[in-house]
Amino acid sequence: MKCSECKYINVSDGNGSPGRCYCKHPNRPKEVTGTELVICNSERHTNRVLIKTSPRWCPLKK
Ligand code: SF4
Repeated sequence: MKCSECKYINVSDGNGSPGRCYCKHPNRPKEVTGTELVICNSERHTNRVLIKTSPRWCPLKK
């Protein structure tokens, strides 16, 4: 699974700046907290997720 195609990605509004893309999966590892949940930034003025992969700790990784 790639974050850009995942329903658990949540993009915050950057208000003209790049937004932040967070993982909202309920089963993400508990030790991953705070800014570690920021997977990438979006493009400015869009909510496009730029990362082409997913983090090491992704719960959907097989
Ligand atoms: S880390 Fe995994 S579960 Fe979280 S948004 Fe990315 S692909 Fe989805």
